[in-house]
Amino acid sequence: MGTIVSISTAPGIGGIGIIRMSGENTFGILDKIFVQKNKQNIKDIKGYSMKYGHIIDNGEIIDEVLVSYFKAPKSYTTEDMCEINSHGGNVIEKKILELCLKNGATLAEPGEFTKRAFLNGRIDLAQAESVIDVINAKSYREAKSGIKQLEGFLSNKIKEIKQEILDVLVNIEVTIDYPEYDIPEVQENEIKDMLKSVGAKLEKLEKSFDNGRIIKEGIKTAIIGKPNAGKSSLLNAILNEDRAIVTDIAGTTRDTIEEYVNVKGIPLRLVDTAGIRRTADIVEKIGVEKSIEKANEADLIIAIFDSSKNLDAEDLEILKLIKNKKAIILLNKSDLNVVIDENDKRLRDVTQNILKISALNKTGIEELYDKISEMFNLNEINLDNEVLITNVRHKNLISKAIENVKMANETLNNNMPIDIITIYIKQILDDLGEITGDEVTEDVINEIFSKFCLGK
Ligand code: GDP
Repeated sequence: MGTIVSISTAPGIGGIGIIRMSGENTFGILDKIFVQKNKQNIKDIKGYSMKYGHIIDNGEIIDEVLVSYFKAPKSYTTEDMCEINSHGGNVIEKKILELCLKNGATLAEPGEFTKRAFLNGRIDLAQAESVIDVINAKSYREAKSGIKQLEGFLSNKIKEIKQEILDVLVNIEVTIDYPEYDIPEVQENEIKDMLKSVGAKLEKLEKSFDNGRIIKEGIKTAIIGKPNAGKSSLLNAILNEDRAIVTDIAGTTRDTIEEYVNVKGIPLRLVDTAGIRRTADIVEKIGVEKSIEKANEADLIIAIFDSSKNLDAEDLEILKLIKNKKAIILLNKSDLNVVIDENDKRLRDVTQNILKISALNKTGIEELYDKISEMFNLNEINLDNEVLITNVRHKNLISKAIENVKMANETLNNNMPIDIITIYIKQILDDLGEITGDEVTEDVINEIFSKFCLGK
């Protein structure tokens, strides 16, 4: 593979910048642009060492740098690599990049370094995908789950399941000479046991996506309520929380904005925050129908009521909307003369999650966080020992594998010939192989790496 180069640090002003090169001509190109203070031949330079010197163009010093050397196969990509640590900023890094290009390197595509690490067999596809998760993480919990996956937590689990299937499959294939005949009972039982065990493991993984998705995307939360109930006051109380990390995310439609807030370890994805700010009137302006849509899409609905006023027809409409949903009722304006009773049957019939707050004085907000934490078992998500699926691609493949377990079971129960059953069993192996990348098309690979940032 040719030699690629890229600036790996984020653009902008910073102390240092890193220009990364990988490929067989790395040291040849470096030799043309880098003059070491104590000149040493590349043969004598050890991998994982650093040299001080200058980047030179036509005899002119471009920058004072440190260069790290990584020799194949012990590098990120398994190829010869170097990282030039230059001064940061908008000028020098680009100048050094241009020099590398002028001397024969080509510009790396997004994710190309990691793609090479995968194609060269150092990491599998699930591990490669976790790199982007770690980089894009919006919370420590999300980063941690990425690091676990990079360490091979998920890959090992998949391998373990595949091995279980293979052991049975190999056994069948060596002992059955005539695949069109009925399957001996011993082996039928063996397959049944295996399918049961594999099915249970896959279902556990599939289930873990409930938590995995929350860790990665946040709890999709809709705040609904009548005009003046206090939606935007609540929103502001949450967004202005000390140490809340707020990230704008473009919503699915053009005029919706989602804001991701990580507050006290609770990842909230607040939908239609622009709508709340703009109209201050979710139910009336966008209509009940739209509210139903919003409520249906959300993982959590926070319905807010002005408790200084009696419940009216519109409030009851909102209550109807959230029945049988994961919802919290907030009785706002608790600092005023309260007329709604928290034990009102019309409320209790909908949910037991009822809290009194004052969005204005920011009282009761802490209890709201505790309630959300409790409802989504956030304190119980154990990243240390449990394998968690956070990636939709993985989740879909696991669901597909579960379908094939079911099909294999069905064919077995219907006394179909063994070769039909093994087709389904092999399909499970393929589905799982697609997660780790053993069985994956080039299109899928390209799609995955195109989402990476430059220089990784
Ligand atoms: P929205 O239309 O649902 O977004 O409601 P706002 O957040 O704009 O609040 C409407 C009015 O109620 C504003 O004047 C707020 O200052 C006031 N308000 C909101 N929450 C409280 C509260 O807890 N106590 C009191 N006294 N007033 C509040």
